[in-house]
Amino acid sequence: MTTKKRNSVLLIFTGGTISMGENPETQSLAPLDTERVLSFIPELQMLHVNIASVSFSPLIDSSDVRPSDWLKIAETIYKYYDDFDGFVVLHGTDTMAYSAAALSFMLENLQKPVIFTGSQLPVGVLRSDAKENLITSIEIAAAKNEHGRAIVPEVCLFFEDKLMRGNRTTKRNSEEFNAFASFNYPELAHTGVHIKYFPHYIHYEEEVKFGYAHHFDTNVVVLKLFPGITETTVRAIYSIPGLRAVVLESFGSGNAPTDKWFYEIIREATDRGIVTVNVTQCRAGSVEMGRYEASVNLLKAGVLSGYDMTMEAATTKLMWLLGKYTSADDVRRMMVEPWRGEMSWPKAE
Ligand code: ASP
Repeated sequence: MTTKKRNSVLLIFTGGTISMGENPETQSLAPLDTERVLSFIPELQMLHVNIASVSFSPLIDSSDVRPSDWLKIAETIYKYYDDFDGFVVLHGTDTMAYSAAALSFMLENLQKPVIFTGSQLPVGVLRSDAKENLITSIEIAAAKNEHGRAIVPEVCLFFEDKLMRGNRTTKRNSEEFNAFASFNYPELAHTGVHIKYFPHYIHYEEEVKFGYAHHFDTNVVVLKLFPGITETTVRAIYSIPGLRAVVLESFGSGNAPTDKWFYEIIREATDRGIVTVNVTQCRAGSVEMGRYEASVNLLKAGVLSGYDMTMEAATTKLMWLLGKYTSADDVRRMMVEPWRGEMSWPKAE
């Protein structure tokens, strides 16, 4: 009799609600150690998967996550890449969409699943969503097809019943278990009685050596437009010392005020080498510059289209590209290309 080799998954604990418990003295939520978290989920023994774990010390609320933490996650995956079939990153929900997007850009030629998950209720609490989210994420991270290859070799985010491409996600609800959405891209898998994968939507990288990017440049700002935004505000933002890129959250299909001062400030910034990328404030849909007069000026001012990228993906993609390239022209050229399925193939504008 031959026994099937067990697949193995590494859990990377970074923090967040999923690894917290109630401090009996203060009644407030505080991080638990990894053993304690896992002790709340005895069902993990029933999985036909070898599980090991590593942990950030201290565990952090995801509001404190910085690019240096993305680097720590990438280093851990790199260090143990050959020893495990997949990776599950336990992370706070608040900034999970940013971290998942950042890791998707950093990890080069990924052939194994990296699944971000978390929960809305702490692991030890009755009705917690932590158990299901973690168990299913481990199953997905370990899953292989009939050729022995990972079914989903991508950076993904699993929550409630949806497996989504990480760089397409947004936290949509601070209370419901259905906390995340991928408004512009279909689910990669859906879970019910079975885990149903949709291979047609999964992104496969070339099978060349795995590696990771080591640098992020955080000289980026997100400028959200609103009716009444003043020249002083826009000018102050574009005058931030060291600024290299702006994610412009525009209206509808990429529109902005038609005031002369507005696009003159941006034109002048483009000439100084500041890259401006246009993403929409709408949850779903794409930027289509030139469709309305209200965006023609942006095109003339050198603004790039972010197409249907999320703000989280646009921001982390810029940090990644600015970390790689010193020249604004290189960043501009690379920004409009999809690298990890983070945007749909651009339509000609
Ligand atoms: N504040 C927590 C965090 O993001 C919330 C959560 O995990 O759901 O770390």
